[in-house]
Amino acid sequence: MRYISTRADAPQLDFEGVTLAGLASDGGLYLPEEWPSFSGFEIQQMSGLTYVELAVRVMTPFVEGSLSESELHDLCEKAYGRFAHRAVTPLVQLDHQHHLLELFHGPTLAFKDVALQLLGGLFEHFLSKTDDHLTIVGATSGDTGSAAIDGVAGRERIDIFMLHPEGRVSEVQRRQMTTVHADNVHNIAIKGSFDDAQAMVKRMFVDPDMTGDYRIGAVNSINWARLMAQVVYYFAAALQLGAPSRKVAFSVPTGNFGDVFAGYVAAKMGLPIERLIVATNVNDIIHRALSTGDYSAGDVTPTQSPSMDIQVSSNFERLLFDLGGRDGAAIAAQMRGFEAERSMHLTNAQREGASALFASERVDEDATAEAMAWAKAECGEVLDPHTAIGLAAARKAGVGPGIPVVTLATAHPAKFPDAVEAATGIRPELPERVGDLFEREERYTALPGDYEAVRDFIREHATRSA
Ligand SMILES: *Cc1c(COP(=O)(O)O)cnc(C)c1O
Repeated sequence: MRYISTRADAPQLDFEGVTLAGLASDGGLYLPEEWPSFSGFEIQQMSGLTYVELAVRVMTPFVEGSLSESELHDLCEKAYGRFAHRAVTPLVQLDHQHHLLELFHGPTLAFKDVALQLLGGLFEHFLSKTDDHLTIVGATSGDTGSAAIDGVAGRERIDIFMLHPEGRVSEVQRRQMTTVHADNVHNIAIKGSFDDAQAMVKRMFVDPDMTGDYRIGAVNSINWARLMAQVVYYFAAALQLGAPSRKVAFSVPTGNFGDVFAGYVAAKMGLPIERLIVATNVNDIIHRALSTGDYSAGDVTPTQSPSMDIQVSSNFERLLFDLGGRDGAAIAAQMRGFEAERSMHLTNAQREGASALFASERVDEDATAEAMAWAKAECGEVLDPHTAIGLAAARKAGVGPGIPVVTLATAHPAKFPDAVEAATGIRPELPERVGDLFEREERYTALPGDYEAVRDFIREHATRSA
């Protein structure tokens, strides 16, 4: 499979190349040159497969030329063997129409584990072939950092430097990063906000002092391999509910638009999806873009669903590219306009294409708490605030009565105990597998919010590329 950049001005790469590159050199994002697709019969043949078997079936076309089927199978077994539930992503029924897809049974309690456990293995596999070394630099407001660290801790040929804004991540989230004691894990607390940390990381990808000496890798959802791994659970859920003979709708708590874009890919591959409901909190740039065509960024408002507190959703560019006839030059111009003005309008083709599959809902803080209270009172389920936004949107969206609606449960409620307790009166306990989190010693380096200080620290501790 060949991959092309949304901005049409970067080399085409194979799967191995896009996995190690992350961002394309023209600033665009990589996508497969064409969507592989399955017939109804082929989808029917997938029912009854284990999660690992299904993952291999769904991902094989994307890795063709870079991994054999048995290599992919081994990597999936290792990644999903670490989940605490045998079904990996079990489905839970709430009422006659609504279901939850629990994506939080991995080591760090959020859906990011599904992709990052696999990505860690993919990095190691590809690097061992060339004996090269990867320096992962990332910024996190919470869940990506811990999932990425767990995915690569102790792996050879990889160092990870994870920047978090000092004092601005929850204690559970910070401890999930700072209590991992592998030699290749480097936590950096910087003075400033998440946006400051993110800006430093982006600068590092284009700093010749860094790119000349190090092979810099990405773990956020600009990396295609992450989205690819997430396509699998859309198939898993739909098959449980009667696909391909029955259509299914999904409601997806959305920030960077990665998870819901994986649902779009599943639809492109032939999975009969009735609707993808994009659920946002009050940071609603995507809801405004889909409902009015106006894509303009404001300031971030902190909420009880911090992993969705985002203004610029990187993966939206992938959708705009695919809906606009895959015209890379036009997308490059559109995105340059957005970067200059912090605002742009969708074209008619983009709006019409999106409205054929997507719906969107904005869920405010009160409605989030109400959804948590409703699920507890009516279904006996304790939800985290991100999942609650998905469920509130699912109930609001008015999907036809015969169609099952699956809300993606993106985090375990114990990651956000204060918000859950305020809404339901219940303080969720951390599962046993992370039980001694509060006893383990924390290790991190505090640095000023200054690019040179961070760069010098990384240069001191990273291994140069071959
Ligand atoms: C990252 C995250 C999201 C948002 O997912 P995107 O792929 O960025 O849209 C939602 N909920 C939780 C708990 C997350 O960690």
